[in-house]
Amino acid sequence: MSANASGPGFMQRLAEGPVICAEGYLFELERRGFLQAGAFVPIVVLENPDAVRQLHVEFARAGSDIIEAFTYYGHREKLRLIGMEEVLEPLNRQALQIAKDVADETGTLLAANICNTNIFEADDPETHAKVRAIFDEQLAWAAEFSPDLVIAETFSFTGEAMIAVEACKVLGVPMVVTMAVHAHPTSMDGVDLNETCRMLEGAGADVVGVNCIRGPDSMLPLLQGIRDAVSCPVAALPVPYRTTDAMPTFQSLRDPGCHCIPDDRPFPVALDPFTCNRYELAEFAKAAYAMGVNYLGVCCGAGPHHIRAVAEALGRRPEASRFSPDMSKHAFFGTDAAVPEGYKKRASLL
Ligand SMILES: [Zn+2]
Repeated sequence: MSANASGPGFMQRLAEGPVICAEGYLFELERRGFLQAGAFVPIVVLENPDAVRQLHVEFARAGSDIIEAFTYYGHREKLRLIGMEEVLEPLNRQALQIAKDVADETGTLLAANICNTNIFEADDPETHAKVRAIFDEQLAWAAEFSPDLVIAETFSFTGEAMIAVEACKVLGVPMVVTMAVHAHPTSMDGVDLNETCRMLEGAGADVVGVNCIRGPDSMLPLLQGIRDAVSCPVAALPVPYRTTDAMPTFQSLRDPGCHCIPDDRPFPVALDPFTCNRYELAEFAKAAYAMGVNYLGVCCGAGPHHIRAVAEALGRRPEASRFSPDMSKHAFFGTDAAVPEGYKKRASLL
């Protein structure tokens, strides 16, 4: 039975407490060897559907309330870029079907997904029409799967996000619209982030906020301004990397300790040494929630352990919490009576 039919809907869940959404499918499935960094097109949906299904299941088990259909970068422009436009429709349908199946099985919410097209130009109305057409065709396929909500995400341009809001209305379900914030909290078409969020809410978005690009430490300072600017629920889904004031985005991180990275740019596949640990994501979730941000998650780079940490920080105990750390029975660091005393004494030798 779908979550839609068996439990509270998305907006009701948000009114009652935090809602968690795991993102970052591109990065995790790239690491696992199922799609290519660069173009970042989710052909894994068609070639290895079980890998997509498995990751959905892992995120649900870790506490994600939402299964986001993996149609991110599965739009016409991206498929044109890699010369595979002919698989556009089967890819979208398959992604939606996989996500719907997992959502039904796990009692989670199904989210349709559209995202930045990378063709929008503020001063070129022709691109606006093309962007709208890209959204419209993806949303028409999504409609057939009766999603509980739609996520329109990772927009660098306010104008493109506004087109997404209009397009998403066709589904008649709640929409979450999130901006990608680069080095400066102003969109690439020159609108202040808080004003952008106000505009999105005014146009009909049900949840507004930020996702991707910035890690916890450089995303957190943006949140109070958004919270104060809008009256709807706010979303925050950072990348799990240790961004800083000087390097606020994961594209801007530099790793002087390593001299073998092509182009000297850790983004996107050499970010490992900057990865946040689970406690850092937990701290972010707690701090954001305390500010009144109640749609939380993690984007590119997220693993199930990050999602579990967010869930536990918000007072949840998802299925995967059964295996949350307990060092009391560790061979040397353990405190349990069953751990031999001689080994406990050797802890200082480690
Ligand atoms: Zn991301």
